Amino acid sequence: MKGSMESHSVNTPRPIRVLDSATIDRIAAGEVIERPSSLVKELVENSLDAGAKQITITLEEGGLTSLTVDDDGRGIAFRDLPLAFERHATSKIATAADIMSVGSFGFRGEALASIASVSRVRCISRTRDDDTGGLIELAGGEIVRREPAPRNQGTTLTVSDLFYNTPARRKFMKTAQAEKRAIMKLMTQLALAHQDVRWLVKADGDVALDLRPAASLTDRARDILGASVMEHMARFEMEKGGFSIGGLASKPTWTRGNREHQFIFINRRPVENRALSQAIVQAYREVIPQGKFPVVIAFLQVPAGEVDVNVHPAKTEVRLLLEREIFGMLKGALQEGLSLKKAEEMRPWDGTDATGGGTASDAMSGIAQAQDDYLRSHFQRGASAGYEYRGVPEGQGELFNASAMRPGAGQAGEGDGVFSSAEPPLHAAPFWQLHRTYIVTQIRGGLVLIDQHNSHERILYNEAQRALEAGGHVGAVPTQQLLFPAHLELTPGQVQAWQTHQAGLELMGFTIEPFGGQSILVQGIPASLKNWNEGRLLLDILDDLAWDDKPSQENQVDLLASYACHAAVRAGEPLTVPEMQNLVDQLFATDTPLSCPHGRPTLIQFTLGELEQRFGRS
Ligand code: ADP
Ligand code: MG
Repeated sequence: MKGSMESHSVNTPRPIRVLDSATIDRIAAGEVIERPSSLVKELVENSLDAGAKQITITLEEGGLTSLTVDDDGRGIAFRDLPLAFERHATSKIATAADIMSVGSFGFRGEALASIASVSRVRCISRTRDDDTGGLIELAGGEIVRREPAPRNQGTTLTVSDLFYNTPARRKFMKTAQAEKRAIMKLMTQLALAHQDVRWLVKADGDVALDLRPAASLTDRARDILGASVMEHMARFEMEKGGFSIGGLASKPTWTRGNREHQFIFINRRPVENRALSQAIVQAYREVIPQGKFPVVIAFLQVPAGEVDVNVHPAKTEVRLLLEREIFGMLKGALQEGLSLKKAEEMRPWDGTDATGGGTASDAMSGIAQAQDDYLRSHFQRGASAGYEYRGVPEGQGELFNASAMRPGAGQAGEGDGVFSSAEPPLHAAPFWQLHRTYIVTQIRGGLVLIDQHNSHERILYNEAQRALEAGGHVGAVPTQQLLFPAHLELTPGQVQAWQTHQAGLELMGFTIEPFGGQSILVQGIPASLKNWNEGRLLLDILDDLAWDDKPSQENQVDLLASYACHAAVRAGEPLTVPEMQNLVDQLFATDTPLSCPHGRPTLIQFTLGELEQRFGRS
């Protein structure tokens, strides 16, 4: 402990004095330069500020040994080279007032001074107007060499031995591999934000990134994220009161397990802002499951005065003065651009309007009433699909004949007992099954077609997921004992899958015992299960999971998805009205009612507007 710099100051009082400038520089450097990636960020931002169109980054050992940024920007005049490395020397602002409207990345005039104070730096640069370039070398902030040197227009800056003179900081560096990862992440962000720049990154002799100038964000994103992702991406944009938001985002059919592919830029700066990440979560809340994240590339353009880039010197955290407004805008832009539906608007609607609705809903309930009257006189309640045609009542051979249209004409549905007055009006339970596959029902803004299989899959998936996640204990999900336990012969793959998922299956309500050799005995199944199929269901699930050696978390997701898919009602199965009602009720009780676990939609909406258009009413 004795004599060590770190402990000395605390225990032994010293007289107060002003620190020398070299010490001040080193302290300040710690704020701007945390690790090689922050160095790359500062240097590349300088290149971008200098109007560079081609930027090459060369790394050795993740930048810990050496790091070079080379650009074709404006360059620095030979006589200005020493100035560039002086603290608070900048060409980007002249007065404090300029700070509020600064359009460049840098303006503090600190980066180069800070970098130079904690490493060895060599800079070669040339402007367009100078005949020859110049070279300057610094070590620990002191100029050790300065002379003319040849170069094309642009700047090459090499930083080596980062933190060589501050061993305590050097110790905090992660492995070269981790530093390289951080730099590559940063490069991805920079490349997305600056599509017109040609980027080249070389790491330990290999090309790690090579991007030609792109004509559009879509092109650049394809180069970075891959072509298959792009098939699932859609554009979004919105403008409001001097703010604008735009970019690309994935449809609910494409998600990832983390936020790594979410990029948010404010005035082309990559930023991290909790509220904006939350806006993305909320925009997708009802269409993608929890724990899944869409790919989002969002560019926000806000007036310079509305964002405080000064909060952190490294400037990744931005304080937004109008955070709430920008939050709402990003969420709205995503929902609109991606047509992310809101579950509330998709809920079946009985046609009554307690809040005294507008003309469209009035018209709709009028129509519903008229339809009811017609249906009552021509159909009767059927066993499965709501109502069955029961023949034309006397005197009504044609659908719209004169007598049928006359008020009070005909004896339609009178006193025949099929529809007693106690029975609710048809439009109070408006569920119909089409082609034994889809359920059609009315919603406030039009109608929806619900896919019975996708919807049931969603319900079963969420139910089973709750069983597995809620600290699951066996018995939490009701089990129904089989009257005749099923004896199933398994293939080796199925055996392996069963062994892997034994615990999960039990939590979900299965009771299974080994039965010698390759076979098992199933004694109980989840009580809510409809399609047990004498064991076929379980064999199908085990087939899906056979030889699946993903990490346990994903493994569990596979189990849930497979169970939901095989256990759900299929297309082609008839449903009764109460069954349909039940299905829809349960669907809307889940927190992601609008998509199945694979991301396919559970329902399709037809708005009144669309209908009016197609009927030529508008
Ligand atoms: P800041 O970027 O905040 O102005 P820096 O310390 O990063 O401060 O840079 C100081 C000055 O050096 C800049 O204002 C700029 O004039 C000049 N400079 C630095 N890097 C480059 C470069 N790659 N090309 C041209 N000029 C540069
Ligand atoms: Mg700078």
